[in-house]
Amino acid sequence: MKDLLEKLVELQKLEIEAEKIRSLHKNLPIRIRELDEEFKVFQDAIERRRTEFEDKQKLKKEKDRQLQAGQEAMKKTRDRLSEVKTNKEYQSMLKEIETSEKKNGKIEEEIIILLDGLEVASREMKQQEGEFETSRLAYENKKKELQDNVDSLQGRMKELLGGVETMRKDISPDLLRRYDRIKAFANGVAVVPVRKEICSGCHMAIPPQMYNELQTGSEILTCPNCNRIIFREPVVT
Ligand SMILES: [Zn+2]
Repeated sequence: MKDLLEKLVELQKLEIEAEKIRSLHKNLPIRIRELDEEFKVFQDAIERRRTEFEDKQKLKKEKDRQLQAGQEAMKKTRDRLSEVKTNKEYQSMLKEIETSEKKNGKIEEEIIILLDGLEVASREMKQQEGEFETSRLAYENKKKELQDNVDSLQGRMKELLGGVETMRKDISPDLLRRYDRIKAFANGVAVVPVRKEICSGCHMAIPPQMYNELQTGSEILTCPNCNRIIFREPVVT
């Protein structure tokens, strides 16, 4: 009887650990997905900053081009100034030059503002790229750690299931049926020790007569209160 109980206790130990691993293993892919999503949010934000920065650079280039075209046009008008014949024509060209100057001045101001903005944005980008790199490394390390956990849990699970199978072959079908039935109704714990005449499954006292029978261990006994299979503590070594 003592031998049988030891087997049941060992089987239960393996099955409880397997159950724990099953639930851990179930949660890891969820945790990995969450990690991916967190990182994606950060990645999207930095991508947006990069695009904004590039747009500003493009705009600055476009303004440079406009200014250059404006300056060239003005130079041409000035060159033609010496060729005009009438005063009216001359005044009209001066007016044209004045308008162009104003227009070019406005573009120059826009370029200065853009340059300031680009300088600030460039500093911020540099800092954010640094932070992003740090968080990317942390993300990759954490992901690898979780992935390794998945692998090692799978390995341990395989061991445990092998152990469970071997143990179950070694226990009579009748006793296994009884064990499984109790397990299903008792939160996965079918075999519990009795300590100082108290069932550790339900914390109720065991009748003294039964407690004495437990000591002789001639048959498998169950707690009269919670119906779990009980044994005297020394059975497990
Ligand atoms: Zn009990």
